[in-house]
Amino acid sequence: MRCCDPTFKEHSAESRSGEERRLVRCKRCGEESGVVIELLRKASMEIEPRKPTYRGPEDWFTGDVWIDPIVEPDAESVLSVISVHFHPGARTAWHAHVGGQILHVTEGEGLVQTRGGQIETIRAGDVVHTPAQEWHWHGASRQHYMTHMSITQGSAKFGLHVTDAEYEGVDAEPTSDGTSQSR
Ligand code: MN
Repeated sequence: MRCCDPTFKEHSAESRSGEERRLVRCKRCGEESGVVIELLRKASMEIEPRKPTYRGPEDWFTGDVWIDPIVEPDAESVLSVISVHFHPGARTAWHAHVGGQILHVTEGEGLVQTRGGQIETIRAGDVVHTPAQEWHWHGASRQHYMTHMSITQGSAKFGLHVTDAEYEGVDAEPTSDGTSQSR
């Protein structure tokens, strides 16, 4: 490296893994044999420690619900993955996901109902696919805890809480409307 600029020289270090190399011309002396290492960090594996568990907000849930965040949306992705722990009898409010939802039951026994449909029992290992914009609720059964992974892309609209009558299946035609907040 025979460049006139000492800072230019600083950049011409050995290439290391995870960095990119580029040939440039020094603006002052015109020397172009200098190899500049561009400090662009390439993607590499990351191991994140477990994040704190938080309580499911009262506007979105009935009963005791605790959430472990696993993948949070960021500037590059709208993917959200959470593990949701429902105490017996606890459930979501009526809601709909803009991009649909995949639930994977990892523990216990729960219930799920889509608007106008029957209440279905779900158990560890089951996977529930809910289409975009479809109103539904999910939660634990009356007798058991239930934990599921929730995989979504984008926000959700939350409506009314699921009444005890709806939860017990007494209302044949559950209704709800979609006023409220997004997630
Ligand atoms: Mn849902």
